[in-house]
Amino acid sequence: PLEPAQTQALTPMMAQYFEIKSVNPGYLLFYRMGDFYELFFEDAEIASAALGIVLTKRGKHLGEDIGMCGVPIHAANDYLNKLIKLGHRVAICEQVEDPKEAKKRGSKSVVKRDVVRLITAGTLTEDDHLDARKSNFLAALAMVRHGETDFALAWADVSTGETFTVDLSADQLQDELARVDPAELLMADATRQALVERHLFAPAWAGITHAAPAESFDSETATASLRAAFPIGIFDPTALSRAARAALGAVVAYVGESQKGVGIALRAPVADGSSRHLAIDAATRSSLELHQTQRGLQRGSLRQVIDLTVTAPGSRLLSARLAAPLADAVAINERLDAVGLLAEDTMLSGRIRSDLKSVPDLARALTRLALDRGGPRDLASIGKAVGAAVALAGHFTRLSDAPTVLARLARTLAEAPVQMASELALALDDELPLFSRDGGFVRRGYDATLDDERALASATREVVAALQARLIDETDVRSLKIRHNGVLGYFVEVPAAHGTKLLEEPHRQVFIHRQTLANAMRFTTTELAELEGRIAKAHDAALQIELTIFARLREAVLGRTDALRQLADALAELDVTAALGHLAATRSYARPEIDTSLAFAIEGGRHPVVEDMVQAEGHSFVANDADLSGAEDIGGGRLWLVTGPNMGGKSTFLRQNALIAILAQMGSYVPATSAHIGVVDRLFSRVGASDDIAHGRSTFMVEMVETAAILNRATRRSLVVLDEIGRGTATFDGLSIAWAAVEALHETTGCRALFATHFHELTSLAKTLSRVSNVTMKVREWEGEVVFLHEVGPGAADRSYGIQVARLAGLPEPVLARARQVLTVLELRSAGTASSSQKASVLDDLPLFAHQPAPKPVVHDPVLAALDAVRPDEMTPKQAIEALYELKKIR
Ligand code: ADP
Repeated sequence: PLEPAQTQALTPMMAQYFEIKSVNPGYLLFYRMGDFYELFFEDAEIASAALGIVLTKRGKHLGEDIGMCGVPIHAANDYLNKLIKLGHRVAICEQVEDPKEAKKRGSKSVVKRDVVRLITAGTLTEDDHLDARKSNFLAALAMVRHGETDFALAWADVSTGETFTVDLSADQLQDELARVDPAELLMADATRQALVERHLFAPAWAGITHAAPAESFDSETATASLRAAFPIGIFDPTALSRAARAALGAVVAYVGESQKGVGIALRAPVADGSSRHLAIDAATRSSLELHQTQRGLQRGSLRQVIDLTVTAPGSRLLSARLAAPLADAVAINERLDAVGLLAEDTMLSGRIRSDLKSVPDLARALTRLALDRGGPRDLASIGKAVGAAVALAGHFTRLSDAPTVLARLARTLAEAPVQMASELALALDDELPLFSRDGGFVRRGYDATLDDERALASATREVVAALQARLIDETDVRSLKIRHNGVLGYFVEVPAAHGTKLLEEPHRQVFIHRQTLANAMRFTTTELAELEGRIAKAHDAALQIELTIFARLREAVLGRTDALRQLADALAELDVTAALGHLAATRSYARPEIDTSLAFAIEGGRHPVVEDMVQAEGHSFVANDADLSGAEDIGGGRLWLVTGPNMGGKSTFLRQNALIAILAQMGSYVPATSAHIGVVDRLFSRVGASDDIAHGRSTFMVEMVETAAILNRATRRSLVVLDEIGRGTATFDGLSIAWAAVEALHETTGCRALFATHFHELTSLAKTLSRVSNVTMKVREWEGEVVFLHEVGPGAADRSYGIQVARLAGLPEPVLARARQVLTVLELRSAGTASSSQKASVLDDLPLFAHQPAPKPVVHDPVLAALDAVRPDEMTPKQAIEALYELKKIR
């Protein structure tokens, strides 16, 4: 955006640049210049720093150097990827006319350019840019001031077309966004501001949020654009809430804008009401390390352990199911029936999995074709997927009464558009180019006219060869050759020495001079020119036929879009089902019994991830039971107070039960010998909370905010797993808060809960609260050392073994000795055995937390005195021997 006065000083190219730049604010402009994309001014500075490429200068603007950097076209994808991963958005500006056209308009005229596509993290479609095993969502958050709901979120994976909406209240915002985990989030500036003011804008969103104009969130305009975007009959925008319409409208507008008129290829939106799901809040999600560890790694996450899918779409679906387990017993059991069949029939699941391995990513190929960005390989992928579906459907024919889910999948597979697939198989060659534009992808024998044209072209090439032989004969120039290049086309070439011969009679009747080089002369002949015309014509004709065939096949495929999308869904679902069956069979997982009771009875439960790690180290994982089963008539579920030393296995035990609930409700078998779970509506897990220092909140503050959320939101159906509430403050504060929290969970909420604590005082609650039980991680003491058995048993830990654990960790011996002294005094004090004067005097001698060197032993024994003087670390072996003799002498 320049002042009018400034624009006068601009060259035509700069004027064009500024115009294009001003209509695409917020985007790095990739400006096409020949074989490069070039970036200027601030864009150049940003890109050169981000990509580590050289920042140079090109010309001057208003007396200042213009910063410039460029990336070659052929490597542009890699650079784009890098920029997008860093959160930038890029506008691709191409030359949209032949440079010759510009020249015709005059020497000063610049080639017309225009932005053909906006590339942003949330609107990617090419495999190069995408993670095959991860959905890539663009989300928009709408806020309405007067409506049925306060907020709504719409999100779409542009690469597959999947589209969703959900209405939200303010307190659901962060949790739902954590579930959806979008790559890019749109909101109006006013919304962002309001969220920031209400402390609802999560820090994690800052890097992915882009402002979208307020108009694109207008629910009235949205209604019209939504009617245009989605086929009528499939979807009625007025059935959505005003907020949802606004959010979806913004998604559609942004996608449309980014594709620059190519259109959008989204599926009818699914209302993804969160009531259907097990609610998992953002903190629980990260503490349980479902999709990634708290350090952001895939390794060590639950997903990494349970994902045995063999296709990318299958992996994406598994991930979505893990993010949103179900909360409906019937639906869960349907999934489990299907998994169960495949877990038992390992022959069948083995065949299914091996057939699925070669199935391409149908949904993404289909989207690229719909956006006119697809090539022959995408067509082939679709044909291949359909072919595989037919083979897979064959596996089910002998199952007379397959479980509901498998029966439904088998039906969809059997209905795959086979004819279209065989057409594709007939039409497409085995080896395919990425793009259709150069032809060469239609199989021989598919189209007679195409074969004719191709035969003509190659026959004519043979005629050319024959012509060369004839011309050699006629001229008697043995070294005469017919050659071809881009400038002259076909020509006759002879060494310079023979050239003049052809310029003379009788040859000059036949040979027309074209070019003289240092050592050769080039001619053409009427016959050769005619042959060349025939070859070029045949080639063009062939290409045209191929492009027509491509267009026809593409139309045929797009005509079956709905069937193909259902097929893609079915293939992904089959992959997930077979993968979970395989998981169950190979890791000895058990089918959970799921109903609507308040049961939570796990026998022989294991932690899926820790089990893997422990086994990798050659140990065996100790399985543990948990029984939190309750009932309405006794006031709800049970609460287990778990005590035990650090490193005893408390967090592992707590987490494994939360993970078992998640696995069960996503429809998976669970790592246990048996499990009976009454459907959980919300899961809260606060295990191993870490400081949120980056966001200026202390551990204690975070813990209290989260505890408040749990006490306010947990219901009788919830499962609450809490580790060491109240640890971040002074002992008495902490104990009282933990105490009150346990009482509230037991008396008011009545949820099923596991509560790990260091406050042994809490264990006395089991006496007064009927559904509270004490369990402890067993340890054994052996020659003064603790041995962790990792076994959960009834009772409360009598000691915390902190000092033994500290010793394992390598705390210096004097510190440990001193700690033992302090502990003894403190224990005497709390046991009340020491008289108050005794306590006072000892405590006066023991300033807490002040490190003191271990007191020197009072020496009476001369041997000990001599020993005390010995400094083994400072002695040579010879001195040591001598010292030993000295000691002997004293005795
Ligand atoms: P705590 O929370 O009591 O400090 P953790 O749950 O973090 O203890 O467990 C500490 C370590 O003990 C784990 O990293 C794991 O290696 C091991 N461990 C825990 N539970 C078990 C188990 N049931 N079987 C085998 N090893 C276990």
